[in-house]
Amino acid sequence: MVQPHVLLVTFPAQGHINPSLQFAKRLIKLGIEVTFATSVFAHRRMSKTATFTVPKGLNFVPFSDGYDDGLKPDVDDPRRYMLEIRNRGSQAIRDIILKSSDEGRPITSLVYTLMLPWAAEVAHELHIPSALLWTQPATVLDIYYFYFNGYEEEMKCSANDPNWCIQLSRLPLLKSQDLPSFLVASSSKDGKYGFVLPEFKEQLDTIDREENPKVLVNTFDALEPEALKAIEKYNLIAIGPLVPSAFLDGKDPLDSSFGGDLFQKSNDDYMEWLNSKPKSSIVYISFGSIINLSRNQKEEIAKGLIEIKRPFLWVIRDQENVKEDEEKLSCMIELEKQGKIVPWCSQLEVLTHPSLGCFVSHCGWNSTLESLSSGVPVAAFPHWTDQGTNAKLIEDVCDGNKIDPQK
Ligand code: UDP
Repeated sequence: MVQPHVLLVTFPAQGHINPSLQFAKRLIKLGIEVTFATSVFAHRRMSKTATFTVPKGLNFVPFSDGYDDGLKPDVDDPRRYMLEIRNRGSQAIRDIILKSSDEGRPITSLVYTLMLPWAAEVAHELHIPSALLWTQPATVLDIYYFYFNGYEEEMKCSANDPNWCIQLSRLPLLKSQDLPSFLVASSSKDGKYGFVLPEFKEQLDTIDREENPKVLVNTFDALEPEALKAIEKYNLIAIGPLVPSAFLDGKDPLDSSFGGDLFQKSNDDYMEWLNSKPKSSIVYISFGSIINLSRNQKEEIAKGLIEIKRPFLWVIRDQENVKEDEEKLSCMIELEKQGKIVPWCSQLEVLTHPSLGCFVSHCGWNSTLESLSSGVPVAAFPHWTDQGTNAKLIEDVCDGNKIDPQK
């Protein structure tokens, strides 16, 4: 029998890399060989951080997306980027598959994350089965599906009407703010991220062409029992939560981090500081790996923190092109007496620390699953993409510790 060998193609963003790496570790535990393909830039960044760990049995095969020094969000055109990663990535994936076959370790299936529908095309062309690893909730996939299957006009109207709501099969009643931001008229077609919706459409068209469409979803049955069944044509398979297992069931204490951070952890010993604080006292504030808050928003949060007088740990990532003194908040001296601001931290270690009281979160899906797995209450501050829907799920489903991810 041929040794199973999965090629895992991952979009080079933290929110995609973390669950993919976790999925890779699970496959390896089952005796499956895994080749992990992501961009040269992401691979370089990961390998520079102190937390980088390569699980035994995982081969990293970085490919150039044309932006080996990184994408500069304020300068580079994201549409151009998507074209480059598509063209170069397709060729790279083809080469990896052919080379593996020549070496006698043929790729037996390909798994790919969001924004890479072309990876499935390459797999199809080379007669390899493929599956999408959906790294957002099943509910979000359902909403996109319904949008492209009869509900587009209705959802487009949502932005102008505060009383607007929609009932989709097996989903809760949704208001405009609960929809993925790309579906709401004001942010859909035009502008910098206008390419996203066609990308999702292409993704769903790709799945539709399969005979028995299967999607692997980073969720679990007890969390979204109805949403997992909402699309009759698709088989949504819950394989989450894709969180290091030490934080879920303690079965593997060695698996205690994702191991693929793109950012350098703070030198500050914030864990020691957390140790010195009373149980459930700390407010943890983080908005993930992409969003940068405006200066005003940061000032408002700072004022709020000073008012509540609680210790806090706040992640503010270093921003290129922003000078340190421009960054400095007006009440920095007071803030530094009360809490800590760090450029990056081991979020899972923080969330599971006994001194943690609550998490002010942008509701990225990984952060949501991590807070749920750690039992930490969330104050939701969603910004865009799936975060509004995730916030709705947090409000409706995850309150009062009703859900146990280990079941
Ligand atoms: N994260 C981290 N340290 C930080 C901030 C974030 O390790 O200081 C991790 C977090 O645990 C999560 C990922 O980065 O796994 C962010 O993914 P998420 O889906 O929450 O948000 P995104 O960055 O995609 O907006």
